[in-house]
Amino acid sequence: MFSLKLEDVLGKALSLRSLTGPEIVFLLGLKEEDEICLLFQTAQVLRERFFGPKVFAYGFVYFSTYCRNNCRFCSSRISNRQKLRYRKTESEIREAASSLAKSGVHLIDLTMGEDPRYYGRREEFEGLAELAAVVKRETGLPLMISPGAVSEKTLRDFAEAGVDWYACYQETHNRRLFDELRPGQSYDGRMLKKYRARDMGMLIEEGIMAGVGETNLDIANSVSAMRGMGAQQTRVMSFIPQDGTPMVDRHSPLRLRELLIIAVLRLAFPDRLIPASLDIDGLANLKERLEAGANVVTSLIPPSMGLSGVSQASLDINEGNRTIQGIIPVLDKIGLELADAEDYGNWVGKERKKLRRQNLNCEAEV
Ligand code: SF4
Repeated sequence: MFSLKLEDVLGKALSLRSLTGPEIVFLLGLKEEDEICLLFQTAQVLRERFFGPKVFAYGFVYFSTYCRNNCRFCSSRISNRQKLRYRKTESEIREAASSLAKSGVHLIDLTMGEDPRYYGRREEFEGLAELAAVVKRETGLPLMISPGAVSEKTLRDFAEAGVDWYACYQETHNRRLFDELRPGQSYDGRMLKKYRARDMGMLIEEGIMAGVGETNLDIANSVSAMRGMGAQQTRVMSFIPQDGTPMVDRHSPLRLRELLIIAVLRLAFPDRLIPASLDIDGLANLKERLEAGANVVTSLIPPSMGLSGVSQASLDINEGNRTIQGIIPVLDKIGLELADAEDYGNWVGKERKKLRRQNLNCEAEV
């Protein structure tokens, strides 16, 4: 087998050619500090080329922590009796979204577990689509919805309500590992939702989890799957052990693994959005995630509203660190700056227009 040279692989990425699976596996296996630094610098060069010093920020409203599923890694799993759950009312959701919008975030992400109240009653989802339209109108911001693997009809309702993004993380594209992590759920069914949402004109966020037994080849396959679905936002999050779950005794992976994956995502998707999530370590390691090539800070949560994160239910929330004011000093320190709402709106508008054109071309070909 021929051996790869780091300069060649990085040079290929800089000339915007797609990396192969073996090249991605090679990058993920880097051990030497100077080589890892070169990888991160290349990721920064690529981010700078497409986004300059501008970083986007997303507000997060996790409005229901009830879920009908039993994912082994997640504290919201149905069989977790230790979990203190909540379900926010429509006015609480609107208040949280408005507060986030006033604080200067660029997008509102409405997230829930697969709450049986919604999954049991069609009209609840219709109400949610209407609420999404209201939140979008009141905040004037693009909207992402992360409601789980909803029906085709519900996806269409969201698209018609003007929802810009549909997020539904697979966590892994290794089917065996998926079955372990998400027992009783359909790998293909979940993937299909993203394809259908894309066909309806919504932008797609796909996500994977690091430290759950995946190999480097699995990550390379995930990159390929993300490319295949044309995801406009690609993310990785480190596994955090959760009380009341079967994986509570597993260790969280070294953060270097997540940073390497962020950098690889930037090389593979130089002009896409790649999050640095506050939901893993709070403000800690935000700088490192941005230095690995991320360009969106996600999971900003307004303090004192009784809202939680997903991986970290309370870390840095009531301290006010998961806010625009909390992240600005970190951006300043590394020469980055918060984008204007207009910059983000333009990016989303351009991508949605591009997607509509692609969809129309596909229809014309059929
Ligand atoms: S990951 Fe999502 S679907 Fe799975 S248990 Fe948690 S909230 Fe439910």
